[in-house]
Amino acid sequence: MLRQYELVERVKAYDPDADEDLLNRAYVFSVKAHGSQLRASGDPYFSHPIQVAGILTDLKLDDQTIACAILHDTIEDTVATQAEIDRLFGPEVGRLVDGVTKLSRIETQTDNERQAENLRKFLLAISNDIRVLLVKLADRLHNMRTLHHIKKEDKRRRIARETMDIYAPLAERIGMYGFMEEMQELAFRHLEPEASATISQRMDRLRETTGANVHRISGQIEGLLRSKGLAASVTGREKRPYSIWRKMQARQMSFEQLSDVMAFRVIVDDVPDCYRALGIVNGRWPMVPGRFKDFISTPKPNGYRSLHTSVLLGNEAARIEVQIRTGLMHEEAELGLAAHWAYKLGSEGAPAREAYPWIEDLLDVLQDAASPEELLENARLAMFQDQVFVFTPKGELYQLPGDATPVDFAYAVHSDLGDACVGAKVNGQVVPLRTRLVNGDQVEIMKGKVKAPDPAWEGFVASAKARAAIRRHVRHKRREELQAMGAKLLDAEVARLRISLSDELLGPALGRLKLPDRAALELAMAENRLTDDEVAEALVPGAAARPARPQGRHARADAAISIEGLTPGVGFLLCDHCRPVPGDRIVGVRAPDGPICVHAIDCDELADESGEWFEVRWGTEAAVAAARIAVVVHNQPGALASLAASIAAHNANIVGLTLKHRDREFHTDLIDIEVESVAHLATILAALRQVKAVVSADRVRQ
Ligand code: MN
Repeated sequence: MLRQYELVERVKAYDPDADEDLLNRAYVFSVKAHGSQLRASGDPYFSHPIQVAGILTDLKLDDQTIACAILHDTIEDTVATQAEIDRLFGPEVGRLVDGVTKLSRIETQTDNERQAENLRKFLLAISNDIRVLLVKLADRLHNMRTLHHIKKEDKRRRIARETMDIYAPLAERIGMYGFMEEMQELAFRHLEPEASATISQRMDRLRETTGANVHRISGQIEGLLRSKGLAASVTGREKRPYSIWRKMQARQMSFEQLSDVMAFRVIVDDVPDCYRALGIVNGRWPMVPGRFKDFISTPKPNGYRSLHTSVLLGNEAARIEVQIRTGLMHEEAELGLAAHWAYKLGSEGAPAREAYPWIEDLLDVLQDAASPEELLENARLAMFQDQVFVFTPKGELYQLPGDATPVDFAYAVHSDLGDACVGAKVNGQVVPLRTRLVNGDQVEIMKGKVKAPDPAWEGFVASAKARAAIRRHVRHKRREELQAMGAKLLDAEVARLRISLSDELLGPALGRLKLPDRAALELAMAENRLTDDEVAEALVPGAAARPARPQGRHARADAAISIEGLTPGVGFLLCDHCRPVPGDRIVGVRAPDGPICVHAIDCDELADESGEWFEVRWGTEAAVAAARIAVVVHNQPGALASLAASIAAHNANIVGLTLKHRDREFHTDLIDIEVESVAHLATILAALRQVKAVVSADRVRQ
């Protein structure tokens, strides 16, 4: 295990300005906090965080990240608190430790293979500081190195599977190939112990029978290049069991068929030398057709650059793979993003911006950073910022659009759950359904007995799935209500005509109206596509010409008026008695035998309403309703014209006019005007009172 001074020395070696005191305090705190806890290996627990910190010094990470690594398990596994960490080590280290703690909690929450991709994305999304992710990966790498100490096989396999499915691909995604490969090889040993052992044995036999020796071949290649005047350093290695096994699987080959189990790396100074080296190697040994790849002119999406070629060595028994690259390409390939930062921070060599097109956004942020500290602080992975990742109470993970609410979550789980949703708990607290979810939230949906999604949800949901489901339900509901209202309207018309609606009567009427059936007729009436007179005329030709029908107490509402609390689009009536206008307090009444009627809260008629009352509000859309006013005017020429002019000047229409109580001095005009709101009406009344001929102007409700 690294001693305290060794760890500090390592950091000082690449960063002379590192905060030695911080590292020392973190070391002592961690050792004390973990106390006598032991690892499965029998080592003291604190050896683990210290080794994790050691791994990160290889990446030359800053002192705060190293301190975070030393402290990374103190909150989960000891009595230390977040507040304590913040106070003792500052908010920056505190934030990093908090990030790693959160990642560790998620890790224990789910072990569902199917969700591996989601979980990878989630880890990236909440690692809003890349250093958190680096600590987590180093933590996992060290746990994999010591995995064989764990006794229970199923636990070993579970951890190995998780490493293979989640952490190794994550390491790959940020270009940490060294981490990725070691994790894969270690996981492979536990996941496929037999295959792993077989491949190792075959490697031993190959070395014995062919005399192929990595060290000897490296020297041969290096000597060849030097003889042609090219300075190069060549290293060779055997492919490792997992990498060989994967190739065997992918190409359906046996171990014997697969001969390029040795790979060599040629490191040269610059790009022209890469191609020269390629020419020299291929001039000396025959090339294996179809195995050349130029990742310098066409880098891999993650920025990897190199030339790859395979050649037949000596007595054709051994094929070898040769990778040719510059020193800069090599460091990038080995250390990924971390190497990139080292270049940026230490300004040794140019940052290979074009090599990382997938983090273009990130680099833009980095460019604007003023100091190395700020630069690291700003290092966010912008890849999944338009996504939010949340959990069910059972730990299943769901990926939702960035502005998602509990309603989106409910519909994502199941459309039935969305339809029956009546409330939600987020992290155990009841919250409004329009609450925006944030990464890591645990969401629980409270279900009602009936499926009744609220049309108002459409105003805040973020997912197409939720929106479509709500619309579908609203359409369905609206149709049902329209149908019911249409049936009442038809019944009322039939009663007024004093007829009974036999098939003999209905059939020809439908024919005249060009409608397929009774339901279509009812719907047409409810939607105001047919007037009562047109229906009467169709049922009993000549009926509409009869004397005027008695005035009903309800007027059919203008379709443009929106009222909240009713299903949108459902027909309703405004009380013809109180004539409510927007701004009046209103109430809806669903009569047992008729449609919905909306009254002003002080309407006299309400005393007689026997239906079900329910709360309604005026919608926010602009609408007009007809109000009735009584104006007492001096009986003089032009008085009525000046009233009309004043009303028009305030953007209101006169839709009805009745003269009453006309005598020598005064007359009273009952005027129906369309107004937008109570306030609009008040303005008009005030203006009318200013008109010279006007004695009084008031709203009337009868
Ligand atoms: Mn740990």
